[in-house]
Amino acid sequence: MSALSPSVPTALVTGGSRGIGRAIALTLARDGFQVLLTYVSRPEEAQETVDAIVREGGSARAEALNVGDGEAVSAFFAEQVKDKVRLAALVNNAGITKDGFLVRMKDEDFDRVLTINLRGAFLCTREAAKIMSKNRYGRIVNISSVVGQMGNAGQINYAAAKAGLLGLTKSCAKELAARNITVNAVAPGFIETDMTAGLADDVRAAYAEAIPLKRMGTAQEIADAVSFLVSDKAAYITGQVLGVNGGMYC
Ligand code: NAP
Repeated sequence: MSALSPSVPTALVTGGSRGIGRAIALTLARDGFQVLLTYVSRPEEAQETVDAIVREGGSARAEALNVGDGEAVSAFFAEQVKDKVRLAALVNNAGITKDGFLVRMKDEDFDRVLTINLRGAFLCTREAAKIMSKNRYGRIVNISSVVGQMGNAGQINYAAAKAGLLGLTKSCAKELAARNITVNAVAPGFIETDMTAGLADDVRAAYAEAIPLKRMGTAQEIADAVSFLVSDKAAYITGQVLGVNGGMYC
């Protein structure tokens, strides 16, 4: 595992192995951050992201971390403190879906989606805030979803988790502003990644038709929004939700 330099600002991207997280990791590396990215099940894809960053002249490290596991999250952050990693940005991107209609949804599917998407962000934000508070600087971005804003039949667990993230974002923004830490959310619409790859063609076409810009978004378009929110240009923006959804929900 390669060491990160304590003198260079580091961005932690959870679920940075593929999809939106990978695009965020690559983009923040181009912005000048060292990138610490996490994965849970696909070390090869995480390593591919690291290799791509290194090929472009950046530095990055990938570590396994299940964000829903409180003990693992505490141990992970303790390790970063020991290594004197200068944590400047946290992107809570790790997420899963386990779709089903309300009356058929199993307790464990509801709990699992809440645990990864919402509790995971809470656990990482709490630990990151301790480090950032000491440094009197930090940028936190939570990847929510348009589904958390407008609801979606068949996704009550996911919508609840993503709506919860917006409350978490706004409350953390108020608590942490005094420490010069901003906390914002990006709410993507429908984006081309593994998460949406399983949609049937007719469902995909119906979604695209319902989007005013008439297409699904790209992971890069989400990464560009995150890049802005962690930059100095966004220093006076906190507690906000930036929709990147092709006009689907305004
Ligand atoms: P994806 O392609 O399925 O990638 C999910 C990422 O999360 C992977 O890096 C995965 O790691 C990681 N992950 C899964 N479970 C985890 C856990 N327990 N602990 C830590 N990491 C875990 O998803 P995506 O489409 O890029 O979505 C990224 C984020 O954007 C999610 O929060 C999602 O809800 C949100 N979002 C996506 C869309 C969309 O249309 N795609 C729309 C709105 C919001 P492994 O590779 O190791 O499995």
